[in-house]
Amino acid sequence: MKRRNTPAKAAILTLLKGANAALSQDMIEAEIKGEMDRVTIYRVLNSFCEDGITHKILADDGKYYFALCHSCNDEHHDHDHFHFKCINCQKVECLEEKVTVSLPVGYVQKSITSWVTGYCNLCAGKA
Ligand SMILES: [Zn+2]
Ligand SMILES: [Zn+2]
Ligand SMILES: [Zn+2]
Repeated sequence: MKRRNTPAKAAILTLLKGANAALSQDMIEAEIKGEMDRVTIYRVLNSFCEDGITHKILADDGKYYFALCHSCNDEHHDHDHFHFKCINCQKVECLEEKVTVSLPVGYVQKSITSWVTGYCNLCAGKA
């Protein structure tokens, strides 16, 4: 079932595209400033995940970050990549390289959540 494209969805999608990084719900709320309530933002973000537009990553700060999917389609989602968090500017990004892990015989992999922390290219020089 296709959901209607509400103004809330359009606003949040524009924000995610413009950020070129993963955003937490708090960050989105701060940007949108009172145009929609917390529940609406939460619902929109979760519907994006269901629709394969974004994926969410649980960060070390206990918050979910939402990032646009790039190589996913309706049937196939692949989020087995590292996420990078800059310890200076707090930016969270998806890294391109796919992560592979060797599991013991008989184990079945469903997903990988992997983090790298450090300085992004903009912060590395200043640190
Ligand atoms: Zn995806
Ligand atoms: Zn940075
Ligand atoms: Zn990602």
